[in-house]
Parts: sequence; structure tokens; C-alpha cells
Amino acid sequence: MASVEFQNVSKTFGSFTAVPDISFSIADGEFVCLLGPSGCGKTTSLRMIAGLETPSAGKVLIGGKDVTYLHPKDRQISMVFQDYALYPHMNLADNIAYPLKVRGETENKRHARAREVADVLKIGDLMRRLPSQISGGQQQRTSLARALVYPSQVYLFDEPLSNLDAKLRLEARGFLNHLQRDMGMTAVYVTHDQAEAMALATRIAVMDKGRIVQFAPPIEIYRRPATTFVANFVGNPPMNLVPVAALVDGGQLRLRADGLTLPSLPVSDAIAKAAAKGKMTLGIRPEHLRMAEAGDANTIAGKLFANENMGPESLVTMERADSGRVTARIFTDDEIRTGDQVTLSFDTRHVTLFDETGARIPA
Ligand code: ATP
Repeated sequence: MASVEFQNVSKTFGSFTAVPDISFSIADGEFVCLLGPSGCGKTTSLRMIAGLETPSAGKVLIGGKDVTYLHPKDRQISMVFQDYALYPHMNLADNIAYPLKVRGETENKRHARAREVADVLKIGDLMRRLPSQISGGQQQRTSLARALVYPSQVYLFDEPLSNLDAKLRLEARGFLNHLQRDMGMTAVYVTHDQAEAMALATRIAVMDKGRIVQFAPPIEIYRRPATTFVANFVGNPPMNLVPVAALVDGGQLRLRADGLTLPSLPVSDAIAKAAAKGKMTLGIRPEHLRMAEAGDANTIAGKLFANENMGPESLVTMERADSGRVTARIFTDDEIRTGDQVTLSFDTRHVTLFDETGARIPA
């Protein structure tokens, strides 16, 4: 296993800049997810690690060695693609053993090793079949087995689970999680699915327009999103973001928005600086809202927009007077109907404040 480093890497295609200038370093044994919306530069970054794209500027290092211009086959990396990329005319045994064949291993050795990996991935009894004769989930595991059959310095994954149905996806995700803990592999995993990134990563790099906006462990990203973009991208449903008017009055912070009742909050230097601009965003996660009871001091009110029963809980969405929506994840048997008045309450400990540029104000 080895570390991966980007030093001021950029990539342009003609006049279009896909990746402006990024630097990061991934330690040996880390499982890093590149997370972001479509077109933010995740795949381009992964392909530069693999050597399938050459940076327009900057350096790529694997295990401390400059590999910027090294051919993919000389990088000791394995890559798993979204479309599996299995050879259709080869049976599973030959598909899985292929990386060993190109490296000149004997037939006996390659088949023994392929079988070993296939057994771990529970496809050992399908080895004589062609890719067309197995399910999508089994194809995905075959492509994973092919990537794991030969020891690599770094494993690269490009949305490997996105062609699976929801149930298989969960199963495969659990398996990858297990594998990571077992092998301690260095991996870079591209996804636009925040739940996948949360479940798998030791650290997540959240990307927006070619830039890394936050690079931190999943729980840190969830609890302390660096910007409103991250807050809105991570969590399902995402953090509620309510634009508020901000004013420091008598050494206390007052926030105002339609439907919001919030006593003054203590002021720090950072809060005073942000409040001077007059605008902030108040962020609160859906699980930190509950149906208000008499005497609750911190509340937000509106009219019921939707009440979705998720089994163990409901997603209650209300629309405030300024049309802004707020969603709560709550346990309720209440019969609330569309248009009914709803008041939700929260604890100020769970409030995140962002300044007018969308950057989180440190607590
Ligand atoms: P997705 O989740 O949709 O795969 P992504 O985050 O992986 O998106 P990239 O595939 O890295 O995004 O693409 C980043 C940007 O660079 C996009 O706007 C894309 O259109 C552009 N791009 C990628 N490859 C090329 C290319 N070969 N020529 C021109 N533009 C490209």
C-alpha cells in the first residue's frame, strides 16, 4: 500500500478548466471518497492518479515517487469502473485471473489465486460462466475480484456500485466496508452518493467546480460542514438552511426570518464580524427538529407541505411564509394535513451559522 499526493495539480481540456489547482495528500491505508455533483472533476482527478489523464500542471506522487508522466501499467494501481469492463468472451476465472496472466504467472498459480479471491467475494461457484450469464451484482463482484487479485499500491474506484439496484448496492457497500477494514487498503473512491461516502470513507473530499471545499473525516463533514454547499450536499435529507437577517444588539445576536422565534444568542468575535454584514444562514439538521410543545423557546413555524412516512419515522416538510421549506425527521402518529400549521422546535446547541458568503462561522 502507498500514499497518494497531488501537488498543485490542474487539468484543462482546450479552454475549459476541469480541475483548477488542487493539492492534497492521502496517507497509506486511507480510504478517501471524492464526493461531489456531476461534472465537479472527480473522475478527472481519479484518472490522473491512474495515469489515464496527464495533468496540465503540477505533480502526482504515489508512495512518495513522482509518477506524473508514468504509464498506468507501471503505477501498481488497480481500478474498478462503473461499467465493470469485463471481457465478454472470457469466463469468470479468466477474467479475474487476467492481471496475473499479463504479469506472466503460471496457469495453476493464477487460477488458484483467482479462486481464492472469488471465494471471498462469494462467486467461487460461478467461475465457468461468461459475464453475460451472471447478474449485475455478480458482475460487479467479478470486477472487484479482478482488481483485488494482484496486490496493488492503490485501489481506485469510479462509482463501482452505481449500476446496482438499491438492495445490492447496500450489500456491496457493506462488503467493501468489511474489505477496507480487513485489508487496510489505500483507496480513492469516486461517488456522488453522500451515503456511500459516509459509510465507506476514512476521509471525504467534497468537491465543487474542480475544487476541494472540505477534506475531513465523515463525522466532521456531517457535524461541521465548512460551507452551505457541503451542508446541502451531505445528509439525506440535507441540512435545512434558512436565510436570516442578523444584528448584534446589546452584546447579543438577534436573528430574524419568517416563522422563526429565537431568543438572542451569545456573540463571539467571529459572529460579530459576520453579523456586521447583516445576513447569515441558519443551518439545522432534520433530526434535530421536533414537534414544538408549549413553552419551547426556539421554534420555526409554517404550513405542512408534505408528510412522508418512512416506516420508523416521518419526514415532515413545512413551507414558511417566505416559501422557504424546512424538513424534520421525526416520530409522529399525528394526523397532520397539507396546509395545517406546524411549529417545530430545536435546541440552539444544534444550530450551525454560516456567514453571508456561505462559510461556517466557528462556534
Ligand atoms: P460525473 O459524476 O458526472 O462523472 P465528475 O465529477 O466525475 O462527473 P469529470 O468527469 O471529472 O466530472 O468532468 C469534469 C468536467 O470536465 C466536466 O465538465 C466534463 O464535461 C469535463 N471533461 C471531462 N473530460 C473531458 C474531455 N476529455 N474533454 C473535455 N471536457 C472534459
